[in-house]
Amino acid sequence: MKGNFPIDKFQNVQTPFYYYDTNILRETLNKINREVEKYTNFCVHYAVKANANDKVLSVVRESGLGADCVSGGEIKAAVKAGFPTNKIVYAGVGKSDWEINLGLDYNIFCFNVESIPELNIINELAAAKGKVANVAFRINPNVGAHTHTNITTGLAENKFGISLEDMDKVIDMALTLKNVKFIGLHFHIGSQILDMGDFIALCNRVNELQNKLCNRQIIVEHINVGGGLGIDYQHPNRQPIPDFATYFATYRKHLKLHSKQTLHFELGRSVVGQCGSLITKVLYVKQGAHKQFAIVDAGMTDLIRPALYQAYHKIENITSDAPVEAYDVVGPICESSDVFGKAIDLNQVKRGDLLAIRSAGAYGEIMASSYNCRTLPKGYISEEMV
Ligand SMILES: *Cc1c(COP(=O)(O)O)cnc(C)c1O
Repeated sequence: MKGNFPIDKFQNVQTPFYYYDTNILRETLNKINREVEKYTNFCVHYAVKANANDKVLSVVRESGLGADCVSGGEIKAAVKAGFPTNKIVYAGVGKSDWEINLGLDYNIFCFNVESIPELNIINELAAAKGKVANVAFRINPNVGAHTHTNITTGLAENKFGISLEDMDKVIDMALTLKNVKFIGLHFHIGSQILDMGDFIALCNRVNELQNKLCNRQIIVEHINVGGGLGIDYQHPNRQPIPDFATYFATYRKHLKLHSKQTLHFELGRSVVGQCGSLITKVLYVKQGAHKQFAIVDAGMTDLIRPALYQAYHKIENITSDAPVEAYDVVGPICESSDVFGKAIDLNQVKRGDLLAIRSAGAYGEIMASSYNCRTLPKGYISEEMV
């Protein structure tokens, strides 16, 4: 089974390009909203770093989600797309002064603070503006995730967050500072997580920390457990919408919230991953000594995940229904890692065929580079394909 593409409308579009199916995106967002409505105190933010294409951002914003940003540029993109500034949260291990000032000027909902020196700078910059900044502490929970090592973030060895040992110290400090208000705890253990056991481990850790705080008579208003829910890269057609029901129910079951606490989520990949495909044209079919190569006009500059994380993306020949043959699908970039897949079964490929590299809506277009002086790929939503 192949995905659903308006191939005739693709003929006049310069390849490679990203194609976003807004039916899938809207269905995904509706599913999230339907699940979240079951719980009165759950609040979902979209992690802008997964895809900041302005048309995609607009569709996400229409659904009512908040925005999770990791840079000043993302705050600007979120504001431009119309996200209310009081629904913007801002995390990042190295926030520059101008970025903090931007967040202060917009009165964003919360800074997720990752170190003691950062807390002091936010307090100073807020004082200079006569403001009080809401802060949550990003705690490194030392919880592993069964995912690629480059995308685990919640282990003590990772650079992110404040260590468990320092939590009390940083809270004490915040309580003495006049221009920050301590409102919550924040966590994010990694990405492309499909084992609910990893999220349960995080819940158990959060419960432990909440008990410790309770003993000090501290109950924060907000708990933010970040994102990380994975998608089915093997079967984008069979499972276009991630299992949000199980995901949210897992948190409901295992995370012990106090009354009046709000539980925040920051979902990126699971929101936009399956709606996007990278569409590329076959330039040449080359017979090697032991295999054949389908050489395409997209490269690792357009989609770096296979080269960076050895990530799998399903590839389909959307032009042909000819019998299947095996190909190494490779790009034109001068790097041996510029390979989208090895020994991939595709309907027999000829020059000019269009291939869809699936599940590329997250960490695709946004990570594109101009290495080799290439032009950045454009992104189109389905409504534009007229
Ligand atoms: C990347 C990131 C997310 C989103 O992760 P996904 O795996 O795309 O859901 C959420 N929160 C923070 C702090 C992040 O850095």
